Amino acid sequence: MRYVINPPAVVTVPTADGADFPVHRIYCVGRNYAEHAQEMGFSGREPPFFFLKPADTVVPVADGATGQIEYPTLTSNFHHEIELVVAIGIGGSHIQAADAARHIWGYAVGLDMTRRDLQTEMKKQGRPWCIGKAFEQSAPIGPLLPLAQTGELTAGAITLAVNGTRRQTGDLKELIWNVNETIEALSRAWTLQPGDLIYTGTPAGVGAVVRGDVMEGAIDGLGTLRVAVH
Ligand code: MN
Repeated sequence: MRYVINPPAVVTVPTADGADFPVHRIYCVGRNYAEHAQEMGFSGREPPFFFLKPADTVVPVADGATGQIEYPTLTSNFHHEIELVVAIGIGGSHIQAADAARHIWGYAVGLDMTRRDLQTEMKKQGRPWCIGKAFEQSAPIGPLLPLAQTGELTAGAITLAVNGTRRQTGDLKELIWNVNETIEALSRAWTLQPGDLIYTGTPAGVGAVVRGDVMEGAIDGLGTLRVAVH
């Protein structure tokens, strides 16, 4: 192969045992906890919907480290969304919920960072959300733990604190569309590939961070993700 420019590096997320998970795509689920849907002005179990972030928006944060992100351009309302991230190990399309777990490689704690003011403006105009969601460093993520170690994660606290003050609190069992149902719905629209990450949605309490803030997200069984904003 003779490339005409240098090919982009493979984006990876570290695994708990020191290996690396190569990232293919990042799918995100919108409004997947009832209370968060309500705080965004919606209610009920509407069908799941999805958006994507480019793979290179990932900011991998090693166990015990503090990730560093830059306050992004164009926004004055930069929001945190703590989320369970599912890593796909075996791809497929039209995956049934009952069969979804065998497609999961593992899990991590992630942040779906959002330029809320830009997202809101695009929504208002009926335009794509990309500028609000799919910008550089918008997908911090902690180390991946294999499902073989954690078992299927269907319940457990999911929380986020900023500078030590709790902002978001939820439980994985409050997901409107659980992980298996999400994989079923997603795999009808796209053929999932090994290396895909799914950010599964955020519980209530989203809010803004500013330069100098430190976010600490945690999910039972997955540990803590710490990220500082510069
Ligand atoms: Mn989100």
